[in-house]
Amino acid sequence: MNVRQSFFLSGILATALRLAAAESFAIEKARQEVERLKELAAIGAVSRARLEQAREKLADARDEETLHRLVYGNIGVESLSEQQAREIIDAASRRVERTARLYQVQAALVDQGVLPRAQLQDLEQQLADRRLGLQLAENRARTFTELLNMVRVEEQFLASPEADIEPPPLVEKFGGSGVFKPEHLRFVEAAFEKQFGHPLPVSARGQSALHTSLGFDHAGRVDVGVNPDDPEGQWLRQQLQSLRVPYIALRAMIPGQSTAPHIHIGPPSLRLRSADQQLSGGLN
Ligand SMILES: [Zn+2]
Repeated sequence: MNVRQSFFLSGILATALRLAAAESFAIEKARQEVERLKELAAIGAVSRARLEQAREKLADARDEETLHRLVYGNIGVESLSEQQAREIIDAASRRVERTARLYQVQAALVDQGVLPRAQLQDLEQQLADRRLGLQLAENRARTFTELLNMVRVEEQFLASPEADIEPPPLVEKFGGSGVFKPEHLRFVEAAFEKQFGHPLPVSARGQSALHTSLGFDHAGRVDVGVNPDDPEGQWLRQQLQSLRVPYIALRAMIPGQSTAPHIHIGPPSLRLRSADQQLSGGLN
């Protein structure tokens, strides 16, 4: 699934699942129930198991809220952080596991003739829904990883105060006039749409949470998810050259990672000074 399809899918889901506002209410209710049962369990008025059940329900409500916020919500995939991308998969997995456990218990009771078989239908449906939710979370995390890889490839081309370093052959750097203005982007976006009948596939517009978390100043820069050698990429490079707008065409593949070819428009990214420490950790 590419970035555009993923946005499209999220849009549909946002409409279908406009329950987010009720979510925090569900958490609050579940939390109050845990508090109530905790007191009762302390004096032996209810069983530990009952309290445990209430805790599970609270955890489930929290996971649901996480998914509504980060998978079905209006948040763009480029605004996710690496941690959030992991969170959504964890939350969706836990929701599948909880229902699967419950299903096992109930199925055993049905087999023993304690419960009617019809009792399982709701749980079956819930399990199917939650598995779909996990699939969507994984798609979203995968799209995020593709964006992350684009940013990581760019890391090698941070503007450096030293003399120009010769870029590796897989990368083509065009300096142009050194200036990239919003008007340039507007012009290119309009021309692209006219040429190809769909919008320019921008994967990162200016500074994003992702760039910030990785310590990049990406303000005033734009990433376009086209392969530099595909017709769209070739056309885009030609346009930028005629406008003398600087760009970096990245055909590079990071060893061990999925490829992330794209065109970065604007001057190379600068490193955010405040994030230096963060950077020395997670990258490479
Ligand atoms: Zn970029």
